[in-house]
Amino acid sequence: MGIFDRLLSGHHGGGGRHGGGHHDDGHHGGGYGVPPGGGYGNAPPPPPSNAIGCPNCRALNAPGAKFCQQCGTSLTALACTQCGANLQPGAKFCSQCGKVVV
Ligand SMILES: [Zn+2]
Ligand SMILES: [Zn+2]
Repeated sequence: MGIFDRLLSGHHGGGGRHGGGHHDDGHHGGGYGVPPGGGYGNAPPPPPSNAIGCPNCRALNAPGAKFCQQCGTSLTALACTQCGANLQPGAKFCSQCGKVVV
């Protein structure tokens, strides 16, 4: 009886809460370096490689343009209205029959 009981039960609990030391480290940031800027610089996009050069005035026209924006020359291959031959863009006469291309 006695002594051991006292020792064991009396002094029970009370445990010092020993946890206090937890100052939060860990989160002092700066770890992740987000790179400044966004990678791509401000280089201008390359000019369209398939721009259409006017056969008459050599102005560059947007891809798909049908007429020169500078002189109005047709940029599309036309067919001769008389013989149906393909005409070069800017052609003024049909190379097959000589008809004037309007
Ligand atoms: Zn032109
Ligand atoms: Zn023709």
